[in-house]
Amino acid sequence: MTFAATVLTLYPEMFPGPLGQSLAGRALGEGLWSLAVRSIRDWATDKHKSVDDTPAGGGPGMVLRADVVAAAVDGVANTTPVIALTPRGAPLTQAKVRSLAAGPGVTLLCGRFEGFDERLFEARAIEQVSIGDYILSGGEVAALVLLDACVRLLPGVMGAASSGVEESFESGLLEHPHYTRPPEWEGLAIPEVLRSGDHAKIAAWRSAQSERDTRLRRPDLWEAYARVHRPLARGKNNNARSGEPEEDT
Ligand code: SAM
Repeated sequence: MTFAATVLTLYPEMFPGPLGQSLAGRALGEGLWSLAVRSIRDWATDKHKSVDDTPAGGGPGMVLRADVVAAAVDGVANTTPVIALTPRGAPLTQAKVRSLAAGPGVTLLCGRFEGFDERLFEARAIEQVSIGDYILSGGEVAALVLLDACVRLLPGVMGAASSGVEESFESGLLEHPHYTRPPEWEGLAIPEVLRSGDHAKIAAWRSAQSERDTRLRRPDLWEAYARVHRPLARGKNNNARSGEPEEDT
């Protein structure tokens, strides 16, 4: 089954954009996923092709009309889940990406201006997803981010050697740091253990680095992970929060 991506946007020419290159581009060419892009304006009903109107209650900017966007959603009717990209949505996570990538595809709504008329979400049971706590000028870049994250997980896209299961967030932790040749560069050496050839020691070092970096950089992730995997180590998180240096493990 091919992962079917449908995008509804006011800027169809922004697609496939970066998804036409590298892994995703090759996979698109090979038919491992498909991309249909439609302009929301195609469903406007007046002679000016209007898709937006002024905010009820006043205020700056314009709001995307529920009736026009709903007609667009109905018009591309397919069986894939419909997601609106909006900063008010649930934060996108690797778990969400995995679950979407395992499904039939996704239909993405890209907002502009002040965003969508809220009634749209209720009327069409549309999920809202945010790619982070910052404001983009439109949902197109967010849609590209979501699709990139899904497409690389599709069977055959990354190849057998790399399934992506060791990446950051897959286990609830950040991944360990990486190094490559030369062994010494600008006075900085690759950690000795990585040159030892002792696979058990290397695995233990990587796992410790992964836990340490998560504790220091992402106390929110560490808290959730440690609750399950390291109930006795959870106090260490306090050091990370206060910025106190931690012992190198
Ligand atoms: N008025 C909105 C707010 O404060 O929540 C911001 C609207 S933003 C300028 C225009 C469009 O960009 C949104 O409708 C959405 O589609 C997209 N967008 C902006 N930031 C986003 C984010 N962090 N995640 C997903 N989409 C985003």
